[in-house]
Amino acid sequence: MTDTIKTLCPYCGVGCGLEVSPPAMLGKPTNRDGQGNPIWRVRGDRAHPSSQGMVCVKGATIAEALDKDRLRYPMVRESLDQPFRRAGWDEALDRVVSGIQSVLSTLGPDAVCMYGSGQMQTEDYYVAQKLLKGCLGTNNFDSNSRLCMSSAVAGYSQSFGSDGPPCCYEDLELTDCAFLIGTNAAECHPIVFNRLQKHHKKHRHVKMVVVDPRHTATAEAADLHLAIQPGTDIDLLNGIAYLLQLWGCVDRKFVDAHTTNFAAFAEAISHYPPHLVAKRCGIAVKDLETAAHYWAEKKSVLSLWTMGVNQSSEGTAKVRSIINLHLMTGQIGKPGCGPFSLTGQPNAMGGREVGGLCNLLPGYRQVQNPHHRTEVEQFWGLNPGQISPDRGRTAWEIVTGLENGEVGVLWIVATNPVVSLPDLERAKSAFLRSPFTVYQDVYYPTETASYAHVLLPAAQWSEKTGTMTNSERMVTLCPGFRNPPGEAKADWHIFSEVGRRLGYEKHFQFANSAEVFAEYIQLTRDRPCDMTGLSHQKLAQGPIQWPCPVKRTGGAGGEEEYASSSKRLYTDWRFHTPDGRARFAATHSRGLAEPSDLEYPFVLTTGRLYGHWHTQTRTGRIAKIQQMHPEPFIEIHPRDAGRLGIKDCEWVEVRSRRGTSRLKAQVTKTIAPGTVFVPMHWGALWADQAEANAHTHSQSCPDSLQPELKACAVQLMPIPAKPISTGSFTSFSTFSSVMSV
Ligand code: SF4
Repeated sequence: MTDTIKTLCPYCGVGCGLEVSPPAMLGKPTNRDGQGNPIWRVRGDRAHPSSQGMVCVKGATIAEALDKDRLRYPMVRESLDQPFRRAGWDEALDRVVSGIQSVLSTLGPDAVCMYGSGQMQTEDYYVAQKLLKGCLGTNNFDSNSRLCMSSAVAGYSQSFGSDGPPCCYEDLELTDCAFLIGTNAAECHPIVFNRLQKHHKKHRHVKMVVVDPRHTATAEAADLHLAIQPGTDIDLLNGIAYLLQLWGCVDRKFVDAHTTNFAAFAEAISHYPPHLVAKRCGIAVKDLETAAHYWAEKKSVLSLWTMGVNQSSEGTAKVRSIINLHLMTGQIGKPGCGPFSLTGQPNAMGGREVGGLCNLLPGYRQVQNPHHRTEVEQFWGLNPGQISPDRGRTAWEIVTGLENGEVGVLWIVATNPVVSLPDLERAKSAFLRSPFTVYQDVYYPTETASYAHVLLPAAQWSEKTGTMTNSERMVTLCPGFRNPPGEAKADWHIFSEVGRRLGYEKHFQFANSAEVFAEYIQLTRDRPCDMTGLSHQKLAQGPIQWPCPVKRTGGAGGEEEYASSSKRLYTDWRFHTPDGRARFAATHSRGLAEPSDLEYPFVLTTGRLYGHWHTQTRTGRIAKIQQMHPEPFIEIHPRDAGRLGIKDCEWVEVRSRRGTSRLKAQVTKTIAPGTVFVPMHWGALWADQAEANAHTHSQSCPDSLQPELKACAVQLMPIPAKPISTGSFTSFSTFSSVMSV
């Protein structure tokens, strides 16, 4: 293939369009990666509406790790203390199938679990749902989206009657005030932030408020930075609502005509007067009032948030508190305003649409809704009652299921939970007890691979064709344009093969991913995420936003079909609740699940850096990004560092109730006193004892079941010197045996 290929960046939920050219195009010299493989050329796609030609360092360097350290062949072993040996696909799949059959006959379907990822394309997700939730009759499919944005899903669903971000990126350039809370967009969603920052710089009247305990690059660009104490978000949001109510800034017409439960909300916020809120949040009253003035006076306020809101034991209540502000001011369904959650993974949105969490079914349906189950059972040609009425296991409940022997098969796909789960030592111990773990991934080694009995090599982005949906509901086709290495196969293909071998031949007769997509979108018909107007063929012409239903019009020559797409949701102010009205929530702050105390006097917060992605499975293999962020660290305020005798660049031991880590200190005023920050990217493969999640706990939001990965209590102690070597593959006893195959 010699032409330039249009596709989507496979890293974050911004979803930037890319143009990729073959390595030797136009007679230019061919760059090679560290292992001698030619590198494809990548640049931003100017025609992609979401990114308009922009890319960050991750998108720009994506091609550099495509061929490095790939898992090329299926590998098997009898037990975790043995080395892997190469196997054929038949043998590996027979093991997977007999492992599942044996557990089905002993422990039943709910002992089978799959843990997936927002890296999976929509077609991969769909076939996995059909296999697990449909054919096997267990809803035990959860994904790393549980750790990322399930609070946003729950918040939207409770307030609007359905999931689905109502805004689009065009709103970044139409807003009068951007209210960013719990997001370091400048580093974590850089192209979204670029669009917003350009608009902010160009128009003096446009304001930017950033709510974050850290003075991040995002906060640096703001007109107002509210460095609140961790866990006081609801205090702040209710405090703003209190002032809006006091100042008579409620859009009564909108509230009366299009919402319910305002009285309970008004009563709740009456307990949040400015002096109390300012004291709890650790901010000045005048700053609280300034933020409230922006909400009161600006014609359009756009809220943006990510993990700082979602990863909380009260994440859903925080999301609903943000939405409350939009409802009381009528700031929704219009250009430049609305509540807009940014997704982390490139296809986290697609995963939500296709039912890729243990409480969901395809087409924004709920497992616990009998009508929804019947619709899906009939569509999939299953027996009545074949889909379980019970919610499946969440990511953390898979861990507890391994601990108590209720999980017999664990199938992990495209994610690295041995770095990303909370309470990591406990999670690792549980994984060691797994009777049978299948790990299906692109790279080897990864931290999780050493806990597997079977490794299945997956084709990655560029090697398979499929779709992804970004944060603004834009669906982009990602075509396959190079061959997978060795015997790697697309995830949807592997799931289909297992389904057929389990006896479900007629359910998995897909010849290609376009057929998978064509089947899936039928399940979105007349649903909030209707995509019946889409196909791989149409998407090959360019990305399209949903909702995009097929419309039918009569005509002399018969029925004509055309697709229409919508930039914004709720422009008619009719919501997906039974009465069509959005619901206010009466929320109260409960604070952190594990606040600091005398024994553990610091709050540790976690986050991401500009260059790295997730657990470094790909970015750790790219030299430019490694140079940009060479080692893990802990940010400590000078006042705390001085009191403990910790100097910049010296080593610190961090202890929590769950684990220990050793990190180099960055003494900086960007972090508030009493709070410390550790990036979440470093697992055992890349540094010794540097895991942020050695400390985080598993206590979760009761509605979204998303763990509080953003805050836990720790103590700090200076240690004399770098204690042990940093960054190696040495902890992988099986590494050399695999690579020699
Ligand atoms: S902002 Fe996200 S989608 Fe865009 S290039 Fe960077 S990592 Fe890729």
